[in-house]
Amino acid sequence: MTKTQSKKADKTRIGLYPGTFDPITLGHMDIIQRAAKLVDVLVIGVAKNSGKGPLFDTKARAKMVEHEIAHLKKHGLKIEVRPFDNLLLHFAQEVGAKVIIRGLRAVSDFEYEFQMAGMNYRMNNEIETTFLMATDRYQFISSRFVKEIARLDGDVSSFASPNVVKQLKRRFSQESGRRLVKPEVRD
Ligand code: ADP
Repeated sequence: MTKTQSKKADKTRIGLYPGTFDPITLGHMDIIQRAAKLVDVLVIGVAKNSGKGPLFDTKARAKMVEHEIAHLKKHGLKIEVRPFDNLLLHFAQEVGAKVIIRGLRAVSDFEYEFQMAGMNYRMNNEIETTFLMATDRYQFISSRFVKEIARLDGDVSSFASPNVVKQLKRRFSQESGRRLVKPEVRD
């Protein structure tokens, strides 16, 4: 079989859901579950995204995502978690995705997502970006606010899974521990 023939024979629809997932929230989970029904294989791309100064490193974020999707995989959904640090479109090509899936909350995400989708389409018009509207009860959830609330010891259990809540607590207790042992600065 030639390369082109094998490509034609392989009709597997692969979708890529990229994000920082710092950390994964119930909003992300909702998009994952819905997106997984639209494609044969869903690749969750965990971006290194050091520009955003993530709280958790890529490995820890990917591990949390893996933990959350374990039950979906058990139910037969084909989902993979892959960290990435290159251009999104290159990563999409690397995994064979023909569609990039993003979530859209209210109006706040629109402008950024609109520009990103437009530029990506210009660079490669064989890869489409598609958007899933956030479900109303998850509309307002963002990783950023989950972190801010957890940092101040607020209850984030209705925004993230028990495992994520545990990881946040662990992370912030380490931070406050470090602050406590820091030697006093005198001038
Ligand atoms: P990024 O840094 O790429 O925006 P995020 O982890 O913040 O990474 O978000 C990944 C994707 O998930 C984005 O498309 C974002 O709009 C979407 N998303 C984040 N939170 C929610 C939510 N509560 N409901 C629906 N989509 C969401």
